Amino acid sequence: MFSNNGSAGKNCSRAIFLTDSTMREAYMHTALTLAEEAASCDEVPVGCIICNAAGEIIGTGRNRCLEKHDATAHAEIEAIRQASNIMGDWRLEGCTLFVTLEPCPMCTGAIMNARIRTVVFGAKDPVKGACGSVIDLFSESFPDKAAVYNGVLAEESSAVLSSFFDKVRNNQAVNSFVE
Ligand SMILES: [Zn+2]
Repeated sequence: MFSNNGSAGKNCSRAIFLTDSTMREAYMHTALTLAEEAASCDEVPVGCIICNAAGEIIGTGRNRCLEKHDATAHAEIEAIRQASNIMGDWRLEGCTLFVTLEPCPMCTGAIMNARIRTVVFGAKDPVKGACGSVIDLFSESFPDKAAVYNGVLAEESSAVLSSFFDKVRNNQAVNSFVE
């Protein structure tokens, strides 16, 4: 399923590659690889890439909250920082952000501040999702809108998260048994 949240970003330009489902999934596969890399480092597995209007990947990121002791080290923030460095501009208009999990309020705010106009995510986040699940910040009265699409490799994206949290729960169970 590939769906647009609807209200947000009606006047935004759409990157041409977004109309190609094989390309959309290829970008999301790259983000998923980053999520798996995060899981292998015991970080919550979320991966993100940003591509420019030509479809070139200019930013990648994955969660590094544990590694950096930083609650703001989310995949989207890392990818935005890298893309801004490469572009030499804090404005990322014309860029598209792909992320395996629906962005949280912090990352949605960063996406707005970076002027990213198209967001594609995999799995919905019923706990912290700020692109339609808990709140839809893009439908609020903020000036910067983005077209938001979800459901690209959603099953794969949530499977990576589920197996990570199953492992965490199992480890906790073993630890409490040992104690
Ligand atoms: Zn976030």
